[in-house]
Amino acid sequence: LVSRSKQKANTVIQLGSTVIGTGKPVMIAGPCSVESYEQVRTVAAALKAAGVTVMRGGAFKPRTSPYDFQGLGLEGLQILKEVADEFGLRTISEIVDPSHIEIADQYIDVIQIGARNMHNFELLKAAGDAPIPILLKRGLSATIDEFIHAAEYILSRGNTQVMLIERGIRTYEKATRNTLDISAVPILKQETHLPVLVDVTHSTGRKDIFAPCAKAALAAGADGIMVEVHPTPATALSDAAQQLTIDEFNTFFEVIRQSGLF
Ligand code: PEP
Ligand code: MN
Repeated sequence: LVSRSKQKANTVIQLGSTVIGTGKPVMIAGPCSVESYEQVRTVAAALKAAGVTVMRGGAFKPRTSPYDFQGLGLEGLQILKEVADEFGLRTISEIVDPSHIEIADQYIDVIQIGARNMHNFELLKAAGDAPIPILLKRGLSATIDEFIHAAEYILSRGNTQVMLIERGIRTYEKATRNTLDISAVPILKQETHLPVLVDVTHSTGRKDIFAPCAKAALAAGADGIMVEVHPTPATALSDAAQQLTIDEFNTFFEVIRQSGLF
């Protein structure tokens, strides 16, 4: 069902006035984790001022250590909704269990399935039954073929509103947090009719190369970019080293816009 050979036309995801998959790229930004109302509101105000229409923020956080901040859960989704409604933004947040779909439907606009759950087939099936769009992340070490099959799980249950996002894969390279597989972008665009995005934050883990990597992604045909933004990254409860400050985000977005690729 995801195959370009079965459907020539691009799948288009409409989020309010924002349309993803038509050739005009989207910028998705926001904190790694929802930490507080004030934190999300500060980021949302800055994103709105910059012209961003879709905000991300994690409430159910799949952390490597069980002792690290696990996210605010339902309260986090409530904060996202309250702030998004105030600023007229659309929201994306990760869920990690099929039981979260019902609450996700009440509070957010797009469900994210994270890299660690790309192989969670029961969650993929549940997402396929969900009434809202899904942003599916590439697994930590998933091949492109496995990634495409994960998307197929969702479509096979009836939900055709699926976006793919390359977020880097694990290789021997240590210079970046993961290895951004730019080649995945044109391959996924050719092989499927789904929108393809690139997460520059988790793929590289390096603020100093977000802009060139985002430009490379757009030049390769990506339908959008995801990047993490936090009012005070140094005190962030997750991914402190790789979230942009608001000033850094504004500079980043300006560079992307000036490139003529956005
Ligand atoms: C995230 O986007 O917050 C996240 C945890 O990313 P990933 O699943 O790609 O590691
Ligand atoms: Mn993060």
